[in-house]
Amino acid sequence: MHTRQQLRLRGVMISYAGPDPTVNAANPPQITLPAPTVADLRTTAAWTLTVMPVDAQGIFSSAGTLPWSTPLTGVATSPGGCSLQWIALNAAVAGVRMNDGNRTDVIYYGLLPAGTPIANVGGCESSGVSTGPNGQQVTMAHEVGHGAGLAHGPCGTPGDPGYPAYEPYHPASTPTASLGEYGLDPRNGQVHRPTEKDLMSYCGPPWMSLYHQGRLTNNARLNPTRIRSQRWKAPMYIHPHLWPWEYIPDPPQWERGPHEVVRMRAERVVSIIGVVERGELRVTEVTRVAALPQVHGGRPTAFVAELVDAEGRVISAADVQRLPARSCGCGCSGEDGGGGAEDSYVLSVLLPDLERGAALRVTGTGADGERTEVWRVEAPERPVEIDGFEVRLESGAGVARWELAAPDEGWTAALQFSPDDGRSWNSLAAGITDNRCEFSVEDLPSRAELVFRLLVHDGFSTVTAETRATSAPRPVQLVVMHPQDGAVVGAGQPLRLWASTEGEVLAEPERGRWYVDEEQVGRGFDDWVVAPAAGEHTVRVECDSDTGTSVAEARFTTVDSE
Ligand SMILES: [Zn+2]
Repeated sequence: MHTRQQLRLRGVMISYAGPDPTVNAANPPQITLPAPTVADLRTTAAWTLTVMPVDAQGIFSSAGTLPWSTPLTGVATSPGGCSLQWIALNAAVAGVRMNDGNRTDVIYYGLLPAGTPIANVGGCESSGVSTGPNGQQVTMAHEVGHGAGLAHGPCGTPGDPGYPAYEPYHPASTPTASLGEYGLDPRNGQVHRPTEKDLMSYCGPPWMSLYHQGRLTNNARLNPTRIRSQRWKAPMYIHPHLWPWEYIPDPPQWERGPHEVVRMRAERVVSIIGVVERGELRVTEVTRVAALPQVHGGRPTAFVAELVDAEGRVISAADVQRLPARSCGCGCSGEDGGGGAEDSYVLSVLLPDLERGAALRVTGTGADGERTEVWRVEAPERPVEIDGFEVRLESGAGVARWELAAPDEGWTAALQFSPDDGRSWNSLAAGITDNRCEFSVEDLPSRAELVFRLLVHDGFSTVTAETRATSAPRPVQLVVMHPQDGAVVGAGQPLRLWASTEGEVLAEPERGRWYVDEEQVGRGFDDWVVAPAAGEHTVRVECDSDTGTSVAEARFTTVDSE
C-alpha cells in the first residue's frame, strides 16, 4: 500500500485600486492592479508542489475576486502582530470563503497582485485564509503549511515545541529548525544539506524539514488516498467546482476523526465577520449564505452572537470565534498559534439561519461580569429588492448587471455560479458596491450550462436572484512550472520539463508536447531532457484537447558549471 496526496488550492483573487504610499507617502499616486488568475495561482504554487509530499499535478481553482483599496502599509498593533489593514483584508478574505461554501476539501489562499503597496508588516497569516503576493512562492508554501496545520519551525520565531533537535546539526537539545536530513529538489537534482532551515521557520535558506515532511504525510488537508498498485497512475482529478459532499456518500473519509463521524453538508447560515481593533468590536459584514456551518481553526472568545425575534426571544445563538493571526517574514517574531497578546484580530461566527428575525446582536462580558450588548443591528423596515439581473458571457469577459430598489449605500453585492443546476455554488466575486461586475471567463468551467446568483447584503439579511448562461468552450489551462520564466539552469545537466494543466487531459499525458528552441524534445506534462548548451533559450509546451490547442512558453538561461 502507498499513500498518495494532492494539493487542492483555491485562490481568492484580489484586485487593488488605491493609493501607493510606498512611492510617495505625502502625495501617493493612485494605482490599479488587476486580480491574479488561476494561471498565476499555478505558477506561484510550483515551489509548494516541489517541497511538499504531494502529486506534481494539483487541482487549482478560483474562489472569485475581491476588490481592495487600502494600502497594506500600517505598522503592527503589537510586536510581531498584524497591522489593522492586514486584519481588515483577512476579514474580507474570510468573507469570500463563506460566499464559496466554507469548504474543507480545499486550502484557500488569498492572492494579491504583484505591486500591491506593502510595508512594515510583510504579510499576515490568518488561520481562516492566508494571503500573499502573486509570484512569492516560498510565502505560499509557508502559508499552505499553516493551512495544513503546521506551526513555525523554531528559528527567528518561537516554534512548534515538538520540533526535534537534530544532532549533530543542532546543539544538544536545542532545536533551531534545521532540516535534519538531506533534501532533494526533484526539478534539478540539487541536494539540500541537513543544516539548511525549515520553510516554516523565519531562517533560510528554506527547504522542507524531516519533521514537517512527516507532519504532512497522511495529512487530511492534502487529501491522502491509499493505492495498491506499484504502476504509474494518472493524477487524481476532481471537479473543482462541485461540492464533494453533494456527490460522495457520507461520511467521506476527510471528515472522519479517530473517534468521530460527523455529517458534513452546507446549511443556511448567518455569517457575521468583524474585527476587534485594540479591544473595540466592529462588524464588517453580515451575509446569509449556504455554507459548511463550522468556523475552522477558530478560538473561543467571550462574545456571543444571537438572532432574536421582535419580542427579544433568541432564535439562534453561537459563540463568536477568533481567527488567530500572525505577522510573517524574516526578522519578525510572531507568537505561535495566535496567542492572546494581540488586542486586534478577526472575528467570525456562523448562526443557523432559521428565520429572518428582528435583530442581530453580539454580547460580551462587562467589567462587572454582566453580559452587555456590544453590537446590534435591527432588521430594516424594507428589505432590498432586486428589479433585474442579467449575465452575459462574451469571449474574454463576462458582465453581470442588476437593478436594485435600495438605498444608495449600506449594501454590498456578491456573485456565485453553479455548474450543476444549483447543488454546488462557487464564489465568483464579492465586495461589490456597484450595479455591475465584470469577471474573467478564463477560470469558469468550459462549455457548461451555469446558473448565476446575485446576493445583495444589506447588513442584516440577504436577497438573491438567479439567471442562466452557457460558457463558451475554451482550451484547457496550461502553464510551464519548470523551467519558469527567468530560470537559470546548468547546461548539459538533467532538466525537468514540467507543466500544470487541468481536467481529463491529466489522465492522458501523451497529449503534452515539449519544444526547446522550436525543436520537439519531450512528451507528457512531466519529462526529463538534457539542458541545452550555455545561452538563452525558450521552452514551449502544447496540449491538444477537444476544445483546441493550449500553448504555454517560458524563457530560461543555461550556464556552464564553474
Ligand atoms: Zn508563519
